[in-house]
Amino acid sequence: MRRHTPDVERIWTVLDLVNWGTEYFERKGVDSPRLTIELMLCEVLNVRRLQLYTDHERPLSKEELVVLRSYVQRRAMHEPLQYILGKADFYGLSFVVGPQVLIPRPETEIIVDRAIRILREVGGSAQRCLDIGTGSGCIPISIAAHVSTCTWECVDVHPEALKIARNNAQTHGVEDRVTFIEMDILATLPSGPFDLITMNPPYIALVDVHDLEPEVRDHEPLTALTDDLDGLTFYRRFASVATQILSPTGTALLEIGYGQNTDVQALMVGGGLDCTIIEDLAGIPRVAKISRPSVTKW
Ligand code: GLN
Repeated sequence: MRRHTPDVERIWTVLDLVNWGTEYFERKGVDSPRLTIELMLCEVLNVRRLQLYTDHERPLSKEELVVLRSYVQRRAMHEPLQYILGKADFYGLSFVVGPQVLIPRPETEIIVDRAIRILREVGGSAQRCLDIGTGSGCIPISIAAHVSTCTWECVDVHPEALKIARNNAQTHGVEDRVTFIEMDILATLPSGPFDLITMNPPYIALVDVHDLEPEVRDHEPLTALTDDLDGLTFYRRFASVATQILSPTGTALLEIGYGQNTDVQALMVGGGLDCTIIEDLAGIPRVAKISRPSVTKW
């Protein structure tokens, strides 16, 4: 009979486990099966990936096997690897994550890239920035780590998310320039004006939630994924309050979902704002870049 997880009574070397885990995750339909077991082993043994191969005959202790077994069981139940390991890479930095926050996505790095470019172009000594729905804090922290002149106010409605974000800000040494505030942006507003506003809101329409992968649907915080309506709530809110929080020369970079570009653009134009859409590397409209129209000169 095939065992579901490695038997802790026999000797298992690193290589045995890489081979066993790869085959097991393949059978379970888990993405990147070999990488998954390798990253789990790195965490359990506290080594880098290369060391798995230079040290492939290393046997695991019983205690190490018990921990590895729990990781394997969790992943087989579709829990995302990042929650199991408690960390996720984003823009070259490692962020602590847990089920209280959305796992940072590579496509969100576009916002960081653009923001860094804009802040450097504009220059100046004190750029005031706002991040709405900050979650793990990956957007403002990555930007602040690259641009030393900006200060951030980051709002999120969930205090547990803010705890994680504060921890990440400290890890990356930007806690003196990044402040976290518990706030429901749909009901309250921070006092602007801000030179830069970023936001990756819950933009999945409620009707689309059941089509999400189980990793996302059953494990990530639903309030970070959907507004429980049509997915456009936060863009509507932004369009109606932008002139109160965005400086006349400021820019907002808002992540948008697949197929939302036309609706978001219409909302922004309806709110008297300029809006252009930036595509991601796959050519999918991904970020709405918004500014206030320049004052007409007579
Ligand atoms: N990009 C995420 C996903 O596709 C959704 C995150 C969000 O709603 N902001 O799962």
